Amino acid sequence: MEVYEDIFAKFLAKKGLKLTQPRRYILEEVFEMHTHFNVEELYDRIRSKTSKISMATVYRTIPLLLEAGLIQRADRSEGRERYEHILGHPKHIHWVCKNCGALWETDFNSLYPALIKRAQDLKFKPDDIELTVKGICWKCNTNDNENQSDEK
Ligand SMILES: [Zn+2]
Ligand SMILES: [Zn+2]
Ligand SMILES: [Zn+2]
Repeated sequence: MEVYEDIFAKFLAKKGLKLTQPRRYILEEVFEMHTHFNVEELYDRIRSKTSKISMATVYRTIPLLLEAGLIQRADRSEGRERYEHILGHPKHIHWVCKNCGALWETDFNSLYPALIKRAQDLKFKPDDIELTVKGICWKCNTNDNENQSDEK
């Protein structure tokens, strides 16, 4: 049994729920992907493997996975909610383009010690650190530049 299965099964049991086959499909797919996904993408991927799943089940399972601490929202922009698994996935910085919604990640390694040091200085006990940088991506930037040069 995978660690995430064990965690999810125990979490569900506390709520009087079971790790049903559809929930298991969702869980396995979530941990097979090492990228960001929205509910529709997740559903499509599961559907390509089995027909025994409904969109409604996927929608209802996401909050359970969030609450169990197995996934997190990678992008909180309204209408663009994307998720990713946390367990076994190193902390990283999210770069979100406000224009096209593109989402990248870069590692957190060089910043992490500085943040922990600052937390210690402030006598602050962090239990979660999230870093999201919002702005305009290089693609959208390039388009801007091209448009400007066209006008000249
Ligand atoms: Zn991963
Ligand atoms: Zn991410
Ligand atoms: Zn962009």
